[in-house]
Amino acid sequence: MGCGRTPTGSVRGVIRLAEVISALDEWYDPRTAEKWDAVGLVCGDPGDPVTSILLAVDPVEQVAAEAERTGAQLIITHHPLLLDAVHSVAATTPKGALLHRLLRGNRGLFVAHTNADAADPGVSDALAARLGIDVDGPLEPLPMPPLDRLGVYVPMADAQRLIDALAAAGAGAIGQYERAAWMSEGEGTFRPLAGASPTVGQIGRIERVAETRIEMAVPRHRRAAVLAALHSAHPYEAPAFDLVEQAAQPSALGIGRIGRLRASMTLAEFAAHAAARLPATVWGVRASGNPDAVISRVAVCGGAGGSLIEVARAAGADAYLTSDLRHHSVGDAMAVLPGTGEPRTPMALLDAAHWATESPWLDGLGDRLRSRFGTTLSVHVSQINTDPWTVHSPSRRSAG
Ligand SMILES: [Zn+2]
Repeated sequence: MGCGRTPTGSVRGVIRLAEVISALDEWYDPRTAEKWDAVGLVCGDPGDPVTSILLAVDPVEQVAAEAERTGAQLIITHHPLLLDAVHSVAATTPKGALLHRLLRGNRGLFVAHTNADAADPGVSDALAARLGIDVDGPLEPLPMPPLDRLGVYVPMADAQRLIDALAAAGAGAIGQYERAAWMSEGEGTFRPLAGASPTVGQIGRIERVAETRIEMAVPRHRRAAVLAALHSAHPYEAPAFDLVEQAAQPSALGIGRIGRLRASMTLAEFAAHAAARLPATVWGVRASGNPDAVISRVAVCGGAGGSLIEVARAAGADAYLTSDLRHHSVGDAMAVLPGTGEPRTPMALLDAAHWATESPWLDGLGDRLRSRFGTTLSVHVSQINTDPWTVHSPSRRSAG
């Protein structure tokens, strides 16, 4: 008990779709989605009330039927329904028929795809947690939002007022702090030339003024506003300042995760462990590498992560688990160096079913929605396995 936050919705009794979207956009910032992706609200009216939500990996017919059974007014999926351009959503096509079915039932569809991959926590965090991996960070971190650093010289008496003006325009925000600035004091000197209107000094005479140098961080998207504030609030006709772009810093957001298994095991054991821990599919888990190699540092990427094989190797992974790995990319990654009998830096690869690597994320999303909106909202995680592979037949082992 305590005076914690009251879940949204229990106050007014009705939760609108717009409130759910706002929470989803907060957790899975659409600005972090890949350029080619299609995320956000696919259909639905933000003003509609929502009492029940269904979470699924794929927006398919069986999931729409499950939403009807559970009474969900909103389906949140990881995969987009309309990723490729369409010129028709006629009910004569599978996607069109699905949209019609949702709209007839007044059901919304919301997609959190690569923005849910990049988020912290995101899809690969859930995958890592399911496999017993303590995560160190993203496999391929997104950069922090770009920053500039502004340095400006101002008469000492005007320093605090200028800091206020720069801060109001967006400078000096660092984490949970605002109006952060460095000040150092010294002496400025200048000679106003003919035509100048000096605030201090006279035309043709060298002036010496006690000045403060102010340094502040500036989010790059606020650069123009901060410079406008500088020129407007600074007492000088021609303020002296410098503005430099800071080096990019990695953030906690990004695709894939790298971490350490809580208990090291051989590759053969890790493949069996992953197959047992991940949602069951006919595919299971297959691996490439020495079955007896000891695996402790592991990279994972929910979904198709074949493009990150060398990133995982460079991060020092003993094994990289993802899905949709291709013959040639695995073959190239496992190619041995002449004379050593080993790949450049040995790293095992594990290939699980795409659906199985992403569906663990749904449980965490369900928990977040319940915790944000309370019991006014019922949240169901889809019980339907939408892995498109339905048959697996192991090859007969040759004798010996
Ligand atoms: Zn996927």
